[in-house]
Amino acid sequence: MTLAFATGNKGKLREASEILGEGYTLVTPTELGIFEEIPETGQTLAENSLQKAQYLHARCGCDCFADDTGLEVDALGGAPGVHTARYGSQEGHDSQANMARLLRELVGISIRTARFHTVVTYIGEDGAHVFEGFVEGRIAEGRSGDGGFGYDPVFIPDLIPGPDGALVPNSGSLTLAQISEEDKNLISHRGMALRAMASWLHGR
Ligand code: IMP
Repeated sequence: MTLAFATGNKGKLREASEILGEGYTLVTPTELGIFEEIPETGQTLAENSLQKAQYLHARCGCDCFADDTGLEVDALGGAPGVHTARYGSQEGHDSQANMARLLRELVGISIRTARFHTVVTYIGEDGAHVFEGFVEGRIAEGRSGDGGFGYDPVFIPDLIPGPDGALVPNSGSLTLAQISEEDKNLISHRGMALRAMASWLHGR
């Protein structure tokens, strides 16, 4: 089955393909001749994910899905949330500026609990289906690690995969930038939402 995924990000495409497995071929908007930026003007992650999936569905008429991710920090009332990509600079996806603002906003705040939250919306012939994933953790006092992307150097997940793959407490306070990509994928918010979508698709 061919599905369109509203992304131009090769890493996300690879992750989704691996999770969906054989029998599913993913195509991107560009491959479908859709070159304009897909609008993302919602007030919530769910609205953005639905908006992107609806836009793609209207353009391609095929089964498709879209994702949207935010970092929700409890002490900041759930911010940056839907503004995660542009928190530190209007151009967006400037990780250093985003982390700098986050650390500034949290100076002197001891309750630093937070989560990454992904909403995936799938649209097929029978309408929209929504899948969510979360990683619970806390924001570090500073950056650690060179792996990953985005806010990974300041995000300490509560649980990480142990030697046998089962989740164990993150007693060394490792950030997502200090664990392997393989381990991150096992606990990733996006992975959790995509696995929920895959298991629904496989069970239809
Ligand atoms: P998007 O909706 O996947 O584009 O994510 C929005 C923003 O969230 C990105 O620009 C990143 O800053 C941040 N983000 C998303 N996923 C992750 C992650 O796994 N680690 C760190 N930051 C992330």
